[in-house]
Amino acid sequence: MKARYSVIVPMYNEEEVISHTYERLKEVMDRSGDAYELIFVNDGSRDRSADVIREIADGDGHVKLIDFSRNFGHQIAITAGMDYARGDAVVVIDADLQDPPEVILELIAKWKQGYEVVYAKRLKRHGETFFKKITAKLFYRLLSRLTSVDIPTDTGDFRLIDRKVCNVLRELKEKNRYVRGLVSWVGFRQTMVEYVREERFAGETKYPLRKMIRFALDGITSFSHKPLKIASYLGFLLSFSSFVFLFFVLMQKWFTSRTVPGWASIVGVNLLFNGIVLMILGVIGEYIGRIYDESKDRPLYIVREAVGYSNLKEEEAKLLREEAGQRWKDVPHE
Ligand code: UDP
Ligand code: MG
Repeated sequence: MKARYSVIVPMYNEEEVISHTYERLKEVMDRSGDAYELIFVNDGSRDRSADVIREIADGDGHVKLIDFSRNFGHQIAITAGMDYARGDAVVVIDADLQDPPEVILELIAKWKQGYEVVYAKRLKRHGETFFKKITAKLFYRLLSRLTSVDIPTDTGDFRLIDRKVCNVLRELKEKNRYVRGLVSWVGFRQTMVEYVREERFAGETKYPLRKMIRFALDGITSFSHKPLKIASYLGFLLSFSSFVFLFFVLMQKWFTSRTVPGWASIVGVNLLFNGIVLMILGVIGEYIGRIYDESKDRPLYIVREAVGYSNLKEEEAKLLREEAGQRWKDVPHE
């Protein structure tokens, strides 16, 4: 029987590159000889990305467009793609051609050998700033120190997952999604292929420092309680040392005649301790904020329009909507 693949392409302001991405993907997927769909998830782009895909979808039945009502973020866009994907294997790839589409054929080959998750590990990264490379490297090392889940280093979201894995991922309801961590967490037979990450084809990175930090915090807090533990250890250590300090201060006052001028040391100790206390509160705040997000239980994303799904049979379309319904709100169709 013919296999069927779904390729998910999250895009945010990628109008300069997206038609090239389509061409390359089409060429590669045609070569696979199997059936496929290309699901472009427009994450609230402010440029013509969605229009470009809409035009392409008119002429090519393989192409689908999920158009978000606003920017919900890269990880959510991937999640939406998984909700809509119908393939036996699902591939996630960046829109900017940094992940070469040709590698998909290698991913598929591994999948055919029976692996259920095939991730693509970056051997080299071309055309990225020194700052990006070094922070990414540090982050992945830190993450693996902090978590008990084995999240592969130097791996993005470029990967193939089996239908089984996709179904399990869709069951996970958490809002702060760190998809590559979740994929590791679910287990299954996993393997990797190595590739060289290319330069961005056009445009610039959609991950400014602000988003990178948020992303890193999501990754760490979703998979580790260690920062909380470190915060409390630090608290213990500090109260212990302040007792020792207090002891010396009292001894000095009671048993020596030396008066301690002490202003500088009081201010110094105060500043230090206040700083640390605030930092610990911040760590706790990060977690509480995430608990708050979960408890609001809002849908993960809102779809303005899903292009390419009208030719589904009526029941199938209904089923698709219902299945994903716990997670997203669809603008009413009729
Ligand atoms: N992206 C997205 N929503 C966002 C930011 C990025 O869908 O809010 C997409 C973007 O279009 C690209 C992928 O996520 O397809 C990776 O982003 P980018 O290439 O800018 O990140 P980098 O490669 O610089 O880490
Ligand atoms: Mg990129």
